[in-house]
Amino acid sequence: MYQRCIAVHSGGRHVRRRRRSRLPLFTFLLAVFSFAMAFALPQEDGIPAQTFPVKSLPEAQEPGPVLPSDAPDASAWNLLLVNPWNPLPREHSFTAKKLSNGLEVDERCYPDLQEMMDACRAAGLSPVICSAYRSYEKQEELFQRKTEKLMARGYSEEDAREEAAAEVALPGTSEHQLGLAVDIVDLDNQNLDETQEDTAVQKWLMEHSWEYGFILRYPSGKSGFTGIIYEPWHYRYVGRDAAAEIHEQGVCLEEYLTV
Ligand SMILES: [Zn+2]
Repeated sequence: MYQRCIAVHSGGRHVRRRRRSRLPLFTFLLAVFSFAMAFALPQEDGIPAQTFPVKSLPEAQEPGPVLPSDAPDASAWNLLLVNPWNPLPREHSFTAKKLSNGLEVDERCYPDLQEMMDACRAAGLSPVICSAYRSYEKQEELFQRKTEKLMARGYSEEDAREEAAAEVALPGTSEHQLGLAVDIVDLDNQNLDETQEDTAVQKWLMEHSWEYGFILRYPSGKSGFTGIIYEPWHYRYVGRDAAAEIHEQGVCLEEYLTV
């Protein structure tokens, strides 16, 4: 009994002591909470409406779509995307410039192409441009020839067309129709296959083409984006600024334009 009373008494003292010590803590927490809420809650309610003269703004200042300031301009002539999912616009036209071997390119990429070829030759190499601008008819002829070759190897027509499309773009979807793409090979190896990547010309072009505004358009490992197999000979003109960025980022044109 004595012990019980002591316990109760002792407990009572504890309670009283705790009550005394809790009061300042509670006050402090309340102050902290009020302070925090003052910053966390929106402030608009406390500001008179007339400080936001939205209606008085001229129309030209109304916000438009927000784009990163350094986003590439996909509608620019040098960045026009042509791939299996983006056919060449029907109205596309350009002024052609004839190369010394009779092939043609868009004259806007000619000075840089010439400079790149000169620099490659100055390095002691022998680059050969074996394909440049192609008309729709020429692309159709190449596609048909590839399809027939596959059918001769036992492919059904449907399978042959599907397989051919990965190697020879469907008419209307070839960059060669843009006038901004060139196939460049080494004089010593003019086969359009992966052995090109081992030639001195390709090694030089892969290292330096971006300096002249060209990119290796169908790099290894990017077929899922480009829809075209690895082609270590096909270069596309995108202009020097874009080529430098694409080279630095290690991306293909599709990735660059969707960043
Ligand atoms: Zn090509």
